[in-house]
Amino acid sequence: MGIFLKKLGIDLGTANTLVFNPGKGIILNEPSVVAVSEQDNIIIAIGDEAKEMLGKTPSEITVYKPMRDGVIADYRVTEAMLHYFITKALGKFNLVKPDVMVSVPAGITSTERRAVVEAAVRAGASNAYVVREPILAAIGAGIPIHESKGHMIMDIGGGTTDIAVISLGGIVASTSVKCAGNKIDQAITDYIKKTFNLAIGDRTAEQIKIKIGAAIPLEEELTITIKGRDYIQGLPRTAQIGTNEIVKAIDKELAIMINAIKDVLSQTPPELAADIIDGGIIMTGGSSLLRNLPELIYRKTGVKANVVEDPLLCVAKGTGEALNHLNKYKKAILSKK
Ligand code: ADP
Ligand code: MG
Repeated sequence: MGIFLKKLGIDLGTANTLVFNPGKGIILNEPSVVAVSEQDNIIIAIGDEAKEMLGKTPSEITVYKPMRDGVIADYRVTEAMLHYFITKALGKFNLVKPDVMVSVPAGITSTERRAVVEAAVRAGASNAYVVREPILAAIGAGIPIHESKGHMIMDIGGGTTDIAVISLGGIVASTSVKCAGNKIDQAITDYIKKTFNLAIGDRTAEQIKIKIGAAIPLEEELTITIKGRDYIQGLPRTAQIGTNEIVKAIDKELAIMINAIKDVLSQTPPELAADIIDGGIIMTGGSSLLRNLPELIYRKTGVKANVVEDPLLCVAKGTGEALNHLNKYKKAILSKK
């Protein structure tokens, strides 16, 4: 028997959902993916198991990424997913209703926010707090968000890139663009189709990005053998691809992210802009791990950028810290039930 969990932080991401317990650390980390059987409208798999099914399902099974673009595309599926992750994290013998803090994309509407609060309560939460992701990313990165000093956070996840300038516990300037890891994967898929006449799946594209991708060309290129299906002959085939081709393939997506930074910098009051030059851009989210991305940002904006220690875990850690100091972060927390 473990300790009963009284507090749970949930990073409801477009690519991954993490559950954090302030006493234990990360207790669950699974893809935000749900597989539904269309015929009887029943959920057949969630998380890792559902992601395994991506691109491999018979036609009667649909695999959903309900948070895909940083908005809740499907309430029913999102609620089922949240319910599954909360009950899985709590275990069968948890009798105490926990306080739950959920991180949501910064662009979420008030209706979506209420839906998340209600879903968390139905899933067994006693109190549900909903907080915008950039705030939690900043807290998770150890930034003293209450200082009268400007900090720029850039979170690059699966569906969205969120950039925010935080000062005195609030968001001063921000933007969110629907261009992040998924769009990079799509650009790789398109490039391989155009160049090699080869069809590859989403997961293969992601693997290519992680194994050899970069934001600026490498002197010593990495290469990989890709396996796919020939568009013309319909037969399986392989091809070789190197880092510098990937750099070219994804440059438009990276330009969108850089422009988003410039956009936020131009909205930032001058005093805070000075702080950002000193402190640099703090990068979180899985896609901040793309090779040389901080260097590209520096070259294009003149502002230094640094990736936090565990960019995939930063928001989840932030939920833990915020749950433990609810009073301190009161202003940054949106709603309670
Ligand atoms: P979200 O918060 O939207 O769920 P995450 O922060 O979990 O997103 O990041 C997921 C994204 O990070 C995916 O698009 C994934 O492909 C990407 N990613 C993970 N590791 C790497 C890596 N080493 N290099 C580049 N991208 C990565
Ligand atoms: Mg995230």
